[in-house]
Amino acid sequence: MDPVTKALDELHRRISGLRGGEVASYIPKLAQADPEDFGIAITSMGGRRYQAGKADTEFTIQSVSKPFVYALALTDLGPDEMLRRVGAEPSGEAFNAISLEPGTGRPANPMVNAGAIATTALVSAADTEARSARILDCLSAFAGRRLGYDEEVYASEAATGDRNRALAYLMRSAGSLSDDPYAVTATYFRQCSVLVTAADLAVMAATLANGGRNPVTGERVVERSVAVRTLAVMATCGMYDGAGEWLLNVGLPAKSGVSGGLIAVGPGRFGVAVYSPPLDPAGNSVRGVAALTAMSERLALHLMHAPVHLTATVTDTGHGARSSRARSPEQTALLNRSSRRIIAVGAQGELEFTETEQLLGAVEGAVPASPGWLVLDLMAVTGIRPGSAAMLAAGLADIARRGHRIVVAAQEPFLAAADGHSDGHSDGHSDGDPDGHPDWHAFGSRDDAVAWCEDQLLAGEPPAGPPAAEGGS
Ligand code: GLN
Repeated sequence: MDPVTKALDELHRRISGLRGGEVASYIPKLAQADPEDFGIAITSMGGRRYQAGKADTEFTIQSVSKPFVYALALTDLGPDEMLRRVGAEPSGEAFNAISLEPGTGRPANPMVNAGAIATTALVSAADTEARSARILDCLSAFAGRRLGYDEEVYASEAATGDRNRALAYLMRSAGSLSDDPYAVTATYFRQCSVLVTAADLAVMAATLANGGRNPVTGERVVERSVAVRTLAVMATCGMYDGAGEWLLNVGLPAKSGVSGGLIAVGPGRFGVAVYSPPLDPAGNSVRGVAALTAMSERLALHLMHAPVHLTATVTDTGHGARSSRARSPEQTALLNRSSRRIIAVGAQGELEFTETEQLLGAVEGAVPASPGWLVLDLMAVTGIRPGSAAMLAAGLADIARRGHRIVVAAQEPFLAAADGHSDGHSDGHSDGDPDGHPDWHAFGSRDDAVAWCEDQLLAGEPPAGPPAAEGGS
């Protein structure tokens, strides 16, 4: 058994004994759920799926649909209009509270019923049926399989859903809902009656964790910016009046539903889902909360844990970098004598702020006081954030201004990205044309970069070129 499944099994066994909580009964059909049903599932960013217990048991998605429908409406409306129509403040109230902004009637957030009903109404569609179809398509794309409805639960909620209709009528009278309240709540009940399993929910959560691309099917379901905003709303409002404590104890964006479903998202890491119907007084699955609290503690998943830097960014700093070129004895002697004039600094991995700051610090520490050649070996750099590329370019420009020649060795795509700040001219050639960039020259290998510096030194060139006409970047 693989270690992830083993850990899930162990967690499942430990928590199955937990009693307490009540199965929701205000939707009569939900009261028939088996309180012993308990499943856990995880989907990784590689699209691998793990599960324990009853992770293939179907149940209605209920409020766990809210973040996904929010993502759909957000895609339709854009962030400004979406926020104008539905707020993003935790209500501190129960899921079915009348949490409307005084004056405007704008619902507090899209994770409580009022805000969710208003959000459903914002999904663009010609009519009610088309809207339900779009919502089902969207939930299915998140899950990576065709989902269907539980008609009995739908009918049961539609027959008893007056409180939700009341919320919709209230919003309509306050001006925050323009659609027919009866029809909109029917669409909302349909959305809540979509059948899923814990395994489905884990894939849906993993799609948000993966920036909106389903890691199992590879389909881009929503834009990254939409996924980010959705996770933000889940983090602050996903657990109703338990949201603050949840963020404190578990520290992950999450969403619960009255049927006992609960999802949590480790951004860039995984999606996890639990199904267990008994609920605590805040309406969150008792075993779901216990399982995720234990998992978060054990694996240090809390978002506020500072990211751990697992690999060193700077791989080497040193004088006397030498190429593999054949040199005459005189040339070799000159290069040996000048070993302090050509230095090489190597880096690896992803360059974000912390890594770039480290790299520039290492470069500062390595460049000699008198002008020389700096070879920056970024061959093992796998990516660089746009902000970090600009930061690196500015740091190198500063070193160039102090009279050093900078020679970068990097992979082609990296050079194109790092060069984005200049004239759009990508300098990723390996033929040694040194004049493409105001602040540095670029080569496709460390050896070529070092050889170019040696050639310059041997030819008696001063390290610094003529002052740049435009005065640097
Ligand atoms: N359909 C349910 C309702 O509106 C969803 C609520 C929930 O899951 N918390 O009452």
